[in-house]
Amino acid sequence: MLMLFSELGLTPELTSALDQSGFTTPTDVQAQAIPAALAGRDLLVSAQTGSGKTAAFLLPGMVKLAQKSTGKGMGPRILVLTPTRELAQQVEKNATEYGVNLRWLRTVCLVGGASFGYQVRAMSRPIDIMVATPGRLMDHMRQGRIDFSRLEMLVLDEADRMLDMGFIEDIETIVRATPESRQTVLFSATLDGNIGRLAQKLTRDPQRIEIARAESGGNIEEHLLYADDSRHKERLLDHILKEAGFDQAVIFTATKVGSEELADKLSDLGYSAACLHGDMPQNWRNRTLNDLRRGRIRVLVATDVAARGIDVPTITHVINYDLPKQAEDYVHRIGRTGRAGRDGVAITLAETKEYHRVRRIEQYLKRQIVEGVIEGMEPTRRPPKGGSSRGKPDGQRRSGSYAGRNGKPGNGSSYAKRSSSGPRPQGSHQGSRDR
Ligand code: AMP
Repeated sequence: MLMLFSELGLTPELTSALDQSGFTTPTDVQAQAIPAALAGRDLLVSAQTGSGKTAAFLLPGMVKLAQKSTGKGMGPRILVLTPTRELAQQVEKNATEYGVNLRWLRTVCLVGGASFGYQVRAMSRPIDIMVATPGRLMDHMRQGRIDFSRLEMLVLDEADRMLDMGFIEDIETIVRATPESRQTVLFSATLDGNIGRLAQKLTRDPQRIEIARAESGGNIEEHLLYADDSRHKERLLDHILKEAGFDQAVIFTATKVGSEELADKLSDLGYSAACLHGDMPQNWRNRTLNDLRRGRIRVLVATDVAARGIDVPTITHVINYDLPKQAEDYVHRIGRTGRAGRDGVAITLAETKEYHRVRRIEQYLKRQIVEGVIEGMEPTRRPPKGGSSRGKPDGQRRSGSYAGRNGKPGNGSSYAKRSSSGPRPQGSHQGSRDR
């Protein structure tokens, strides 16, 4: 049944802003989380990036902001904690976009790498929504600049990632500084394990909302190509970039150095390429993202952390040049394409000896990634037969042919069905990562 935003209890100011953004119907997570958040319950929501989760917490928060605060002081009424600077900036940008008709709305984004002075000045007037990474928020808290006495809602966005990044103690300190009366809303790709324990500590009688992980990548066409070694991967990448007919691509590498080297190599080949990683100064990272948004950069070579939160609808291709270390990063990476209902293509390159890392990703996804080959560029060695063929007793893996975006044939880059036999590969490659 199709639903309208107005049926979820949003105000006309918000629904008309959503109209302007071209959002006509709520996504699953929005349809479930918005009414629950408006009812005042604490929420634990498992939802992936790309599901529309940001609006799922910002919109009900903004409905509440329309009621005048009874609290004194200038502190934030809503606090959103995010694992990375880019995601924080993206969330603040979305808040401004959805709040375009709320002239009184004041937001602030507290992230590392940005000017303290600017952030302090921004807090010299009452704040409605504060979006922050834990580290920089703690810096301000230590200097006594944060007053949480008016806080009504605390949002932990991508909470699993914040735990992975070691923010647990910061989060607990921050939460202790907020009023007991707050509403707590936690979003995470998973609600199991450590994240479940944290959630239990931070929330009161929470309602759980689990948005099923997409059975397939949805509108994202996924492919897996095995390579013999790194030189073979280079040739595959070269072929893909020449043949794929992409608008803009994000290529993921395992290391910061790797991202710089590859971006240099691609620039030498004539692509407007740039790299993005966590050691770059923040203003440089921001400039790179702006250039990507404006189409001045066609190929962005990025590490996992730096690429979090990139929301550029014109990215048509994601290429995993190096495999992600953690299986869930695969989902976050491919979610950089296929945004806002568009189509996208995600191509994963793996050395044959890394087959077990591919299996781990597939186990996490609970599905297989379509494996193929580019004619004339097949790997000489094959992963062992059937290792990951969960639910496929004969060990047959799916294989497919790559038809390019929007069903357009990929200029001979069809990934033909492969033979499933071959020598057993050994060893695995692990790079140092941007963590
Ligand atoms: P998120 O999961 O919050 O990162 O959002 C993923 C993308 O979906 C972003 O580009 C949003 O602007 C877009 N989006 C969010 N809600 C909707 C909606 N209801 N309809 C269409 N696109 C949406």
